[in-house]
Amino acid sequence: MTRLEPQSWMSAPETRKLMDALGEARFVGGAVRNALLGRPVADVDVATPLTPGEVQRKLTAAGIAVVPTGIDHGTVTVVVDGKPFEVTTLRRDVETDGRHAVVAFTGDWAEDARRRDFTMNALYADSSGEVFDHVGGVEDLKTGRVRFVGDAVTRIREDYLRILRLFRFHAWYGKGEIDAAALRAAAAEKSGIAKLSGERVAKEMLRLLEAEKPAPVLRLMASSGILGEVLPDRLQIARLESLAGIDAANFFAPDALLRLAALLPHDVKTAALVGERWKLSNAARARLEDAAGSSEKIVAYLSIREVRKLLYRLGMQPFKDRLFLNWADDPKAGMQWRALLAMADAWTRPVFPLTGRDVMRAGVPEGPLVGRVLGEVEEWWVDSDFTDDEFSLAERLKAVVQAVVY
Ligand code: ATP
Ligand code: MG
Repeated sequence: MTRLEPQSWMSAPETRKLMDALGEARFVGGAVRNALLGRPVADVDVATPLTPGEVQRKLTAAGIAVVPTGIDHGTVTVVVDGKPFEVTTLRRDVETDGRHAVVAFTGDWAEDARRRDFTMNALYADSSGEVFDHVGGVEDLKTGRVRFVGDAVTRIREDYLRILRLFRFHAWYGKGEIDAAALRAAAAEKSGIAKLSGERVAKEMLRLLEAEKPAPVLRLMASSGILGEVLPDRLQIARLESLAGIDAANFFAPDALLRLAALLPHDVKTAALVGERWKLSNAARARLEDAAGSSEKIVAYLSIREVRKLLYRLGMQPFKDRLFLNWADDPKAGMQWRALLAMADAWTRPVFPLTGRDVMRAGVPEGPLVGRVLGEVEEWWVDSDFTDDEFSLAERLKAVVQAVVY
C-alpha cells in the first residue's frame, strides 16, 4: 500500500472542511502525483462518486459556495474560506470528437481512472493519505514514464490535446527516453492538433515552456514533426535553452511568455501570427511583438546612465525582456547581467519636471507646438541624466522656444 507523506495542503482546515462535507471524496491528479514526488502542489482537484446535484446540496448545506463552472462535465468550483477547489463527479467519456466529450457519471473509481490521460495523472488519495492506483501510475511515476492509460492512438483520437500534454508531462516528470508507443502515436496523429482551439494549445504549450528544461522536449517535438503544428519555423531552441539555464542557475521563476519570446524568430509578423493562433491576450501579444521587433542594443556592460535612459524610454518590462533575451545570447557575462538587473530593480521612474503650462508661460501659444517643445526639452533632460537643476532646464526651454517658435 502506498501512503502520502503528511501534506500541508491536506491538513489545511479548508481542505478538511471540504472533504468532511463531501464525505465520499478523494484527491486526484496533479496534487496526488506531486505529493508522491515531494514536489509543490499548486491546485487541489477532488473526485467524488456523488452526482453534481448531490455535491451542490451537501456543500451548500455546509455553508460552502458552489460555482457550476463545468457542470456538463460534472465539475464545480468551490471556494472554502477563500481557497478554491475543483470537485468533479466520477465519469466516463461516452462520445468524443477529438476536442470535446459527452460524459456519463459513474460510481466506479476505476472507470474514472480509465478516462484520464496518463497513468501518473490517474492516482487518487483519500483524506488519510492512502493512495489508490488502478492503472499502475505509481510505478510509472517512479520510473518517470509518461504512459497513456490504455491504447495511445485511441486515447489521442478522443482528444488531440493529449499529444501536447504528452510532451508537457514528459518535460516535467519524464526520466530517460519518452515512451516509444506514445511518441509513435503522437507523430502519426499530429494533424489532429489543427482541430484544437488556440486557448487550449496555448495553455499546454506555455506550461511546457515553464518546465525546468523544455529544450530537449521541443527538439523531440520538432524531429517528430509535431512542433510545426503549433509553432512557426526558424525557432531558436538554443536561445530558449540558454534562457532556461539562466533561470535554473539564478533561481529565477520561469516566465512562460518570455521563454516563448526567446524561442520565436526575431520578426514581429511571426510573433503576431503566434499570438493570433494561440489566442493570447492583447497584453501578451503586445509583449511578444515588442520583444520580437526590438532593435535597442542592450549589452552586459551598459553604464548605469545608459540603463536609466533605456528604462525611461522603454519601461520596465520591455527593458527586462530585452535584458534577458540578450543575456540568453551572451550567457558568459552572468555577473554583469545580474548587476544590470539589480540596477533596473532599484530604479524608480523620474518625473519630467516641466508641463505644458511652463511651455506656454515661456511664450508658446496653446496648440500642437506646446507638445513639440515639451518633447524636445524632455529628450534633452533624458540625455542630461534627468537633471533636477531648474536653472538649466529653464535655459533649455528658452532655447528650444527660440528655435521652434521664432
Ligand atoms: P498541473 O499540476 O500542471 O495542474 P494536473 O495533472 O493537475 O497538472 P490538469 O491539466 O490540471 O493537470 O488536469 C487535472 C487532471 O485532469 C489530470 O491530472 C488528468 O487526470 C485529467 N485531465 C486533464 N486534462 C485531460 C485530458 N485532456 N484528457 C484526459 N484527462 C485529462
Ligand atoms: Mg491541475
